[in-house]
Amino acid sequence: MKAEIISIGTELLLGHILNTNAQFLSQQLSILGIDLYFQTSVGDNRERLMQALDIAFNRADIVITTGGLGPTDDDLTRQTIADFFNINLSLHNESLGQIKDYLKKRNRPFTPNNYSQAMFPEEALILPNDNGTAPGFMLKRDKHLFISFPGPPNELKPMFLNHVKDKLMGLSNEIIYSWLVKTYGVGESQLEEILKDLFTSQSNPTLASLVAGGYVNIRITAKAMNEQDAYSLMEPMLKTIKSRLGDAVFGYNDDSLESVVVSLLKEKGYRLAVAESCTGGKVSDLITKVAGASEVFMEGLVTYSNEAKIKRLKVKEETIKQFGAVSQQTAMEMAEGVRRELDTDIGISTTGIAGPGGGSKEKPVGLVYLAIASRERQMVKRAYFTGNRSSIKHSASNELLNLLRLHLIKR
Ligand code: AMP
Ligand code: MG
Repeated sequence: MKAEIISIGTELLLGHILNTNAQFLSQQLSILGIDLYFQTSVGDNRERLMQALDIAFNRADIVITTGGLGPTDDDLTRQTIADFFNINLSLHNESLGQIKDYLKKRNRPFTPNNYSQAMFPEEALILPNDNGTAPGFMLKRDKHLFISFPGPPNELKPMFLNHVKDKLMGLSNEIIYSWLVKTYGVGESQLEEILKDLFTSQSNPTLASLVAGGYVNIRITAKAMNEQDAYSLMEPMLKTIKSRLGDAVFGYNDDSLESVVVSLLKEKGYRLAVAESCTGGKVSDLITKVAGASEVFMEGLVTYSNEAKIKRLKVKEETIKQFGAVSQQTAMEMAEGVRRELDTDIGISTTGIAGPGGGSKEKPVGLVYLAIASRERQMVKRAYFTGNRSSIKHSASNELLNLLRLHLIKR
């Protein structure tokens, strides 16, 4: 079973918006085991949409469009589809009622052009829109299936999940199932070297590495009759990867360094305080993105100036004078200080030079000291990152979260 996605909207071609609908639908089709060989983006233009439809129907069983179902003149999906199949548009009364209701509930006027949103090719199956005015529709023609979704992602997603997914479920007898192994601290090329034989001998499951947000992820994909069989196929591979990469594997699928750190802190019943200089609150931001972080995250201080480090964390003036604010000694006193002052089990800190200015030969831009202080153990790491200011902040924050993770799993 082959599908093809046509994303309609001139804004996509102008680069004004990212095509997240295609991403979502691709992921969903893959879960359903439906092959997807082509995605097309086309502007709000009748001729070119006709061309795209023609090409798609010649090589795919299922053609899915997104966008162009709005009430305005540039939304021409409905009419173009009807013309393509040579069928008429007719008014769908139930949809018209729903559109009126939807607008009334939100105190928005019903305008004549809203009528167009209730016009559908005859014989189409209407897909209700629970989050907007434009319903979608499905159409069967010969052996082909055509599905049209509205553009706004918050309308398309529930429409797909609630009204379409079930209908596609039975069309393929296999599913494609993917797992992500999340790693940190091993570079992509080094990782490929360690797993070389797995990468080259792959058929089912297949393996791919991808760099995202400072992590190197390994995607394992298996094709099978059901999720359980797929998991059985990938389980030996997961074990091999874990045994070779060891603690560099920090989690799976939706796990992040911060979510893993929060879980570990909860497990141990530890409370955390954070003192940040060069990362400017990024570490605290990442940790507090994790739901339930309040159980373990007590406070985060952005002690940016020397005065703040001295006043809030009781870093010794002497230390800063002698070694500088960006130094092993200052980082350590910051971590110890924040732990002591806020009376937590663990304190962590960052101090560094995020650039673009402020670097020197001994202390270049990208140099960061990261420290961890618990009641029993202290450690400080000198790290060096490249990139712009924002990526240095992000890398330094990830590095500290990873150090904390390693600190917490140390046996
Ligand atoms: P439309 O249904 O074409 O009027 O699209 C309405 C809105 O949905 C657009 O202004 C975009 O904000 C959004 N949208 C349309 N197509 C996409 C797409 N492929 N990916 C993400 N958002 C989209
Ligand atoms: Mg549009």
